[in-house]
Amino acid sequence: MLGMTPKAAAAPKVAPSAPAAPGPQRRRRISRDDPPERRFPVIYRRLEKEYPGAKTALNFSTPYEMLFATIMSAQSTDATVNKVTAKLFTKYRTLEDYANADPQALEADIHQTGFFRMKTKAIQGSARRLLEVYDGKVPDTMAEILTLPGVARKTANVVLGNVYGVVEGIAVDTHVGRLARLLGLTKEKDPVKVEDDLMKLIPRSKWLNVTYLFIEHGRKVCKAPVPRCEECVLSDICPSSRV
Ligand code: SF4
Repeated sequence: MLGMTPKAAAAPKVAPSAPAAPGPQRRRRISRDDPPERRFPVIYRRLEKEYPGAKTALNFSTPYEMLFATIMSAQSTDATVNKVTAKLFTKYRTLEDYANADPQALEADIHQTGFFRMKTKAIQGSARRLLEVYDGKVPDTMAEILTLPGVARKTANVVLGNVYGVVEGIAVDTHVGRLARLLGLTKEKDPVKVEDDLMKLIPRSKWLNVTYLFIEHGRKVCKAPVPRCEECVLSDICPSSRV
């Protein structure tokens, strides 16, 4: 019997070597030289962490009270407006009370907020238009609310956002405009143009909140005329930082 030659053991198959996996890629740090599109998400995240729950400081219990408080807040502080409205909203209980009030009495009641003659005209004019055209209700669209006397886009954005959750733009007050310029998000001075630049840069879901984050930061750290850059969480990504 012929001897059987044992088969040589088959060599184990070796899988062709895969190309080496790239090592973990380090993301480049955002710097103040980066364009606004890259810096803004970081700015937003940090401010959100600094000021959780940032929101309007104005007190109100009806849509028209918010409207009137916002009209009064121009060139004034929210604290002063709240002091004035604490008495005002008790004395004037309906839109008719504002519409029919003696203008001089209303001027005296809101005197502390400044520009009281202009504001009285805006409040009484708005109260009458709300009663005559809008059935006593503050409208919930930008086009309609802008037809009220003394109401421009900033007031409209504040009222629509805070009362109805309708967000059609970004309220640009003095803090928002200053921060947007210092942070290099716009070069514009006119609030409507600043708003336009911010709306192009910022996702709509953040339009309402960004106003209150910038206001908080503007009040507490990025103050005018001298910002406290040494305390600022944005100093490494802010082109205007002094540190
Ligand atoms: S670094 Fe200075 S200028 Fe820039 S946001 Fe902060 S406080 Fe304002």
